[in-house]
Amino acid sequence: MALIVQKYGGSSVGSTERIKEVSKRICATVKEGNQVVVVVSAMGKTTDSLVKLAQEISSNPCRREMDMLLSTGEQVSISLLSMALQEMGQPAISLTGAQVGIVTEAHHSKARILEIKTERVNKHLAEGKVIVVAGFQGISNLEELEITTLGRGGSDTSAVALAVAIGADCCEIYTDVPGILTTDPRIVPEAQLLSEITSDEMLELASLGAKVLHPRAVEIARNFGMPLVVKSSWTDDPGTRVISPPNQGRSLIGLEITKAVDAVQFDSDQAKIALLRVADRPGVAAKLFGEIARQDVDVDLIIQSIHEGNSNDIAFTVVKGMLPHAEAVANAIAPVLDENGTTDILVEQKIAKIAIAGAGMIGRPGIAAQMFRALADAGVNIQMISTSEVKVSCIVNQDECDRAIASLCNTFNIDSSNITYSEEKAEQGHLVPVRGVALDKNQAQIAILYVPDIPGMAGKIFTTLAEENISVDMIIQSQRCRLVDGVPMRDIAFTVAQSDAHQAAEAINRLQDSLKFRQVAIDDNIAKVSIVGSGMVGHPGIAAQFFAALAQEKINISMITTSEIKISCVVSQEQGIQALKAVHKAFNLGGEVKTDIPAVSWK
Ligand code: ADP
Ligand code: ASP
Ligand code: MG
Repeated sequence: MALIVQKYGGSSVGSTERIKEVSKRICATVKEGNQVVVVVSAMGKTTDSLVKLAQEISSNPCRREMDMLLSTGEQVSISLLSMALQEMGQPAISLTGAQVGIVTEAHHSKARILEIKTERVNKHLAEGKVIVVAGFQGISNLEELEITTLGRGGSDTSAVALAVAIGADCCEIYTDVPGILTTDPRIVPEAQLLSEITSDEMLELASLGAKVLHPRAVEIARNFGMPLVVKSSWTDDPGTRVISPPNQGRSLIGLEITKAVDAVQFDSDQAKIALLRVADRPGVAAKLFGEIARQDVDVDLIIQSIHEGNSNDIAFTVVKGMLPHAEAVANAIAPVLDENGTTDILVEQKIAKIAIAGAGMIGRPGIAAQMFRALADAGVNIQMISTSEVKVSCIVNQDECDRAIASLCNTFNIDSSNITYSEEKAEQGHLVPVRGVALDKNQAQIAILYVPDIPGMAGKIFTTLAEENISVDMIIQSQRCRLVDGVPMRDIAFTVAQSDAHQAAEAINRLQDSLKFRQVAIDDNIAKVSIVGSGMVGHPGIAAQFFAALAQEKINISMITTSEIKISCVVSQEQGIQALKAVHKAFNLGGEVKTDIPAVSWK
């Protein structure tokens, strides 16, 4: 006998017929001898309709009242599902988040789960009942019972957290597609089902726009080693297994806010090459990295900053031993990339990459900010920043590496056994390099132009955003340094959710007096296309292939960032879908079999 948590998303319970179908599946699971706890979303597009209702009354409704409103959607589906189970002769009881005792932070609309009481669930399980729990909602504490919600798509997170709290054997997420595919099958019908994916890969995909799983649900599964399966509620196919490392015995108290950073990593065997003022047109990155790949040079971080006028800066790092090859390629190709001959090449040999790693950084913008602040306090200047969902890496001067590590270990309470030398390359070479592709059309780019290049700037900017609870994804500092009245200046650009863009720009503008930058610019006409795969490490040429696929479609790239297991490019919003399709094809991710997506009226 197993204890199983099953979560059914909005489309799976979108009508009373669907609710009856779902109850049959639950009964079958019980008949097989299992105990079942069910988590459900609101029916169909109910949550969207509730948001619209609120907007008809107020353009900026109070977050507390929004949570009060949105949490009603799930209450409808839990009661109906419970009735359907009882109708089939299966004892069942519906419980709201408050009744279960899902205690969250007191932040309305984006609350993180702190603790889940298990007494009531265990009591009803012992009575032989199926428990049907409202997803997406919790309460701020057990006295005031203020209703909170976890953020859109948050029922997945409720389900995995509940599974962890009650010590379930596994958590099954039922949705309207057969599992996790190489990309969204609604955009690319040839997308193929993955039979399994690592939690690290899924974390990246989920945070880069693959909404099939809420990233925080993956984070909890990864942190607590909870077996997770995503499958269709329309079929009996096995779906996709999300593979996590074994449970390390983490505490259940502060469930979603456990230690954010697990390790500090450093790699002093890197060198940086920057090409300043290359032409801003499709194909430039493809040519450069295509040539570098032909020389079999593996590139680690790549950054292309926002452009000014009609030129871009591209910087990348390689292992030191490969620097002569990479430099020769850069020198040979520079004239091809910019006919005006204005491209400069900068080479830095004395650099090191330092990184903080851990799955608890998602949706916690304060962590990256804390890293930048710690480096600033140690007097370390940051040359390049690259962020991913599970890692923030910075390139710094090699002489400052020891100081940087000491300061990070101190800040994040990491002892020396968790300092690792980030060299996993050889082992990963056998893996399929690219597993999935994602598109995010809900991002905006914010550029802060002419920021004085002194330690502490990134710390100040990202601390301010963190205080506003705004998560930042790509962060890029321009490589070009301009002297204004003797002060070196750089640009810093990053992407945030479109809904946070104006609040972010306003918060940064309030820093103008102390930071003395020139201007903040918002561009929300962007789309972010990303490729993800653990096997990218040790496969030279993946970046080049990505950029070439975009170049072939004449798609211009405005920003590039990479981490070990992902590469993201910002392109114009209109070209997002075309870019996604081209990249999916370029990596041969499609197949003959087209995914069968049930026709539901609201999608
Ligand atoms: P639910 O209502 O069950 O929570 P969602 O709409 O939140 O379902 O998530 C499922 C949807 O995620 C699919 O219908 C699909 O359009 C989208 N999706 C995006 N990327 C992927 C992917 N890589 N694999 C599967 N589905 C994806
Ligand atoms: N009903 C909520 C939403 O639509 C939560 C969820 O479905 O996961 O965002
Ligand atoms: Mg969902």
